[in-house]
Amino acid sequence: MKILSLLGGGIDSTTLTIWLKTQGHDVTAFWVNYGQVAARNEYDSCSEFCSSAGIDLETASLMMDMGSSSIVNSETDKNDRTKNVLDGRNAILLSMGTSFAANHGFEAVAIGYHHEPDKVFPDACIPFFDQYSKLMEVGLVNPVKLIAPFRNLLRYELFMLADSIDTSIVDHTHTCYDNIIGGCGKCSHCIQKASYVRSVTLESVLKSIRSRIDL
Ligand SMILES: [Zn+2]
Repeated sequence: MKILSLLGGGIDSTTLTIWLKTQGHDVTAFWVNYGQVAARNEYDSCSEFCSSAGIDLETASLMMDMGSSSIVNSETDKNDRTKNVLDGRNAILLSMGTSFAANHGFEAVAIGYHHEPDKVFPDACIPFFDQYSKLMEVGLVNPVKLIAPFRNLLRYELFMLADSIDTSIVDHTHTCYDNIIGGCGKCSHCIQKASYVRSVTLESVLKSIRSRIDL
């Protein structure tokens, strides 16, 4: 399948993009600069992993004032959870990717959503994704399928899958909201990464994880 994979430079989307390639798909990655503080490190991570995996990387820019969220404003207090919200970000990224895909002959758009029990961002959750997918079924001249292959996986399972492909995905992708190489250690993404304790994963566990990938 000719797939456009939305890549943000972090663990989830990098794992997805490389996993799709290992499954034999014709994968192109798509990264968007929407003014995020971490743009430079995100892009460097995307570029490095795509180049080593032999994946083409397309980029796009969003020229819009995105407000005072700490994700786009380095002066905003990152410790204030209410300032870590950037409403509609995933909705915008999905729309840009889907439009790019429909106009460039792609069959599918892939996004690294996974099962997220805490539901911090509504548009990063499966109910939103399913409704958006239905909307796109009636909204495009050139049909594009929207896929979230890791939708049934918990975050730590996604990390285990990443490690089974290449341990440098967890170690060297840029997951942090800040532009600090190695991460700030304080934002929600850094905290999630720090909570993952690497250990030898049994093949039976990996088999169970792989069996729940939805593609
Ligand atoms: Zn961080």
